[in-house]
Amino acid sequence: MSNILLATNPKPEKREPGNFDNYTKNEGRGWRCKDCKSMIFSGIVAHPIWLRGTEGGFGKCKYEEVPYCSNCEKEPNFSGEPVYVDFDINDFNLSARKSLPSSSNKD
Ligand SMILES: [Zn+2]
Repeated sequence: MSNILLATNPKPEKREPGNFDNYTKNEGRGWRCKDCKSMIFSGIVAHPIWLRGTEGGFGKCKYEEVPYCSNCEKEPNFSGEPVYVDFDINDFNLSARKSLPSSSNKD
């Protein structure tokens, strides 16, 4: 039966999201897909912030909005690639020191 054939057919390959060359600006607001005219959604991708040279960080994330066409493009993966920052001792003291503004020049 054709139902079985449909179920076993692989889905056509979708584009990578986030390429504005594939969208056209709406009059008013928002964007549409050039191919299927669908509204462009935006997905949120969270990039864990890691210390350069390591595979860990402070448990913080950098959030990025990635536009995509739900018909033609892959949905952005919420778990993004890590972004790297250079080691900074001040980052380690954030939780201890940030709550005490203007007390840094006491000595
Ligand atoms: Zn589309």
